[in-house]
Order: sequence, then C-alpha cells, then structure tokens
Amino acid sequence: MDPVRILELYSGIGGMHYALKECGVPAEVVAAIDINTTANQIYKHNFPETPLWNKTIEGITLDDFNKLSFDMITMSPPCQPFTRIGLQGDVSDSRTKSFLYILDILPRLHKPPRFILLENVKGFETSSARQRLVKTLTDCRYAFWEVMVSPTSVGIPNSRLRYFLLARSPTGDSDVQINSLILDTFPPPAEGATPQQASVLSPTCTSSGQTGEEVHGGHFLYKRETVTEVERKLVQNNNPSVRPIRDFLEPQKDGNMEPYLLGPKTLLRYAAVLDIVQPDCRRSVCFTKGYGRYVEGTGSVLQGCMETQMDGVFLGLDQLSEEEKLQRLLKLKLRYFTPREVANLMGFPHSFSFPQHISTIQKYRVLGNSLNVVVVSKLLQLLLS
Ligand code: SAH
Repeated sequence: MDPVRILELYSGIGGMHYALKECGVPAEVVAAIDINTTANQIYKHNFPETPLWNKTIEGITLDDFNKLSFDMITMSPPCQPFTRIGLQGDVSDSRTKSFLYILDILPRLHKPPRFILLENVKGFETSSARQRLVKTLTDCRYAFWEVMVSPTSVGIPNSRLRYFLLARSPTGDSDVQINSLILDTFPPPAEGATPQQASVLSPTCTSSGQTGEEVHGGHFLYKRETVTEVERKLVQNNNPSVRPIRDFLEPQKDGNMEPYLLGPKTLLRYAAVLDIVQPDCRRSVCFTKGYGRYVEGTGSVLQGCMETQMDGVFLGLDQLSEEEKLQRLLKLKLRYFTPREVANLMGFPHSFSFPQHISTIQKYRVLGNSLNVVVVSKLLQLLLS
C-alpha cells in the first residue's frame, strides 16, 4: 500500500505527525506548515527529513497546494478564538483567517483530499467557524463525524477535552460504521464518572456540559473547592481503567527536581488554588501553554514528599503567620511536572526530544498548544483503516 500523503497544517511540534507514526498506517508528511519559530525548531529536530514550511497558511497559493498532491489534511487551527477564557471572537478573530482560507481553497483543489482530521478546543463545536466547516464539507460531499474526547478515555490520567472532526470523501457502506466505532473506542463515561470522556456530537451538535478542566484544588474542602469537585476527583482517582500518574514520571535522582519546586512566593499566594496530585492519583488537569509561568488553572502540580499529610498542612493554614504557613507548605515539596513528564502525559513517545537551547518555559508553551498523541492516533486508525 502506498503511504498516505499528509499535509500537516498548523504543525507546531508535530503532535499529528507522532500520532500518524503511532497509528500504524503507512503515511508520509509531504509538508508541515507553521509560523512559530520555536515550534518549528523542535519539529525540525525530531523530523529532519520532513519538508517544513515556515509560512502563513493564507500566504500559500492554490497552485502550491495542488503541487503537493496530498491525500489527507491534518489541522489544529489556533484555538484562542474559541476558548471560554478567550474573547470568543470566532470567525471575526484575525487568527481564524487562515482557517477560512483553507475552507475557501478546499473545493477548488484539483484533487480534494480523501481524509481530513481537525482538532480544536471545547467551544469550537458551537462556533460559526464549525458551521462553515460543516457547510464546506457537505457541499464537497464529505462524510464526517464529530467527537469530544479526553485522554482519560484512553487510560491516561490527564484531562484535555478536545473537539475532533474526522472527514472522509464518501466511499460506500463502511462510512456508516465510524460512528459506532468511535463509541466502541471511546466508551461514554461510567455512571458517576467525570463527563470528561467521550460524547459523539454527530450528526447534530450538542454541548457536553462542563469539563472541570479549570477547576482547582486538592481533595480538601478547606481549600477553595466544592463537594461536587471533591467527589469527582475521588471517582477519577478510583477509576482502574486509567493509569496512575506514577507511570508518567521521570526517575527522581538526588536534587534533579529542585528546579521544578514551587517557590515561597507562589506557595504563599496560590496554595489554596493549586491542583495538587500524588503519584498514585489517576487524574491531572489540562496543561496549558501558561504552565510554569502562571499557577492558577494552568495544570496540576505534584506532591513530592509523601511523608507529609495534606490534612496536616492545610487544616487551619489561614490562621498561621506567613512564616509558619510557608514552613508547612514547603514540607509537601510541591513541584511542577517536568516538560518530559507533561510530554509523557500527552502521549509523546520517548523518541521525542527538545533541542538543547529550548528553555523550560518555551517547552511548556509549545506542549500546552499541542495535542494528546494517543487520542489522535486512535482517531486516525478509525479514519484510515
Ligand atoms: N498540533 C500542533 C499545535 C497546533 S497550535 C502541535 O502538535 O504542536 C496552532 C499552531 O498554529 C501554532 O503552532 C501556531 O504557530 C500555528 N499558526 C497559527 N496561525 C497560523 C497561520 N496563519 N499560518 C501558519 N501557522 C499558524
């Protein structure tokens, strides 16, 4: 079988490329396109053979696209216009321009791609951009499926609820099966479990409720969290189909985690809103591109010292002097997950690495923009096989 020729738009650090390698279907990325120079350096470092275009998508002509003669487009358009924390500028946000350009080009290609995979944040499913995508695909006679999936449904202890659209140019009966295949692969959450798993949106689009990804706090009511949140975390931690955080950690050698410890100022200011997890937990919140720079809502932190009980630290904390508070909090040895550990939780293989000069903050930033490789590889298997 000839390799499927892939056009990887918004390629970033190559999450889609890794998913393609992992899905087992022979594929060749004929061009990867992105304008982020840091991400491009990382992409080039890991995929030196792949043609990487450091160009804006909307600056590439129809002619150039035709010359690539691709069978499939993978794309993760910028998500800021659709996030709940963003301004939700949708199609009027300038960052959506390149996506609208792709929709304009698609019907005019000499040879429309047989497959399309699009990834975006929760929020995209109710956007006008999604409506335009659906219209274009319908006009071009594609069959398509939409699904919301979080890595927890493939056994990874990390919440990252994302919208995916899989499209295939109609080929016959096999198309109707994809819906049930998706449901088999990403079964809906068990009773009482988090709603962060899978819900198939197609054929009509529904919103799947809250994700909890921006929820903060540990398992302690005296921190700022509700009973529902605590209960949800307990259910998550007791879900045997999800692996423990421990499996994703780097070996801890003397002092090698020091650079990742949370400093005194951060501890004193943000202790009550940290999402703290332990190695035996089966959950963590979504790592965003602000991880390591901002504390609130950007990703979980890890308790490094298990001899200290969380209750002993947090009970009555507010009544203490700053100095006493700090002494207690320091005992937990709270630290950020390392970029390698974040990459592990995002399903990146061991072969993935960063060039030496990339800083820790840059690593968190590009990882936060990327995707869960295991989730996408499973979707690719459904679409391509
Ligand atoms: N899936 C990628 C990340 C996608 S994030 C990964 O695995 O890393 C969106 C990416 O789109 C960013 O890297 C950003 O630099 C790129 N981008 C945004 N607008 C663009 C445009 N007009 N042309 C090309 N790339 C663009």
